[in-house]
Amino acid sequence: MNMLLTDRDRWQSTLGWQPTDVQLGQFQQLYEAILTANQQVNLTRITSPEDFWEKHLWDSLQGVAPWLVEAELGAPPRQVVDIGTGGGFPGLPVALVFPHWAIALMDATRKKLVALETVCATLGMANISYLPQRAEQVAHQPRHREAYDLALLRAVGSANTCAEYALPLLQLGGQAILYRGQWTTAEEASLATILPRLGGQLLAVRSQKTPLSQGIRHNVILSKVERTPDKFPRLPGMPAKTPLA
Ligand code: SAH
Repeated sequence: MNMLLTDRDRWQSTLGWQPTDVQLGQFQQLYEAILTANQQVNLTRITSPEDFWEKHLWDSLQGVAPWLVEAELGAPPRQVVDIGTGGGFPGLPVALVFPHWAIALMDATRKKLVALETVCATLGMANISYLPQRAEQVAHQPRHREAYDLALLRAVGSANTCAEYALPLLQLGGQAILYRGQWTTAEEASLATILPRLGGQLLAVRSQKTPLSQGIRHNVILSKVERTPDKFPRLPGMPAKTPLA
């Protein structure tokens, strides 16, 4: 097994949490299964063990670090949606570490989700469901509207676009975690202006460096404080083409 994937100390020193032996084995299995699936469908360009560890495993889990504490591992299940999951990030590492959470992987590209079904079957993951549609469509379906406790979004669009995708899917009191690299005061000001229209509020912005390459990461955390008006999200394509401003 790759040394990095077994390095508990690095998790402990960066996130204050350690994977179990079982989880370390699952991370290795996930790495192998993603690389295999990647030969059929373009899931990720991040394939070296170091990059996979840092940019997929570590990065996916740093976004949910507040829940990695022991008490939360015994806490009630959460309904989670990973919007624009692509190659399964951040959803798959989160699903491995929180087996009592139900994770819906959403992506507009059906063939990516078909490939992820094979990955999840290989790992025997039972807490995953698949939404092969655009967020703009799913968010208007009664089963999914205001149905989630947590929405995760990494590399899916601008913050304002992500807010329009995520807030309609969240229950009152739910949170959206936007995984971002750089984060500017201009982006924050613009986001703060549009959030009230979606029933959202900016809860916090956390930043940290990635452990290997010292890249900057920001987590922008939104909370749902009021019902989202029915007109959001707008028609497919609109939130990305003309973000709320
Ligand atoms: N979250 C992954 C993938 C990012 S690539 C990661 O960080 O590695 C962005 C993905 O979002 C693509 O797979 C694309 O198909 C999907 N996507 C973009 N807009 C979307 C939308 N409106 N609804 C659902 N999926 C979307």
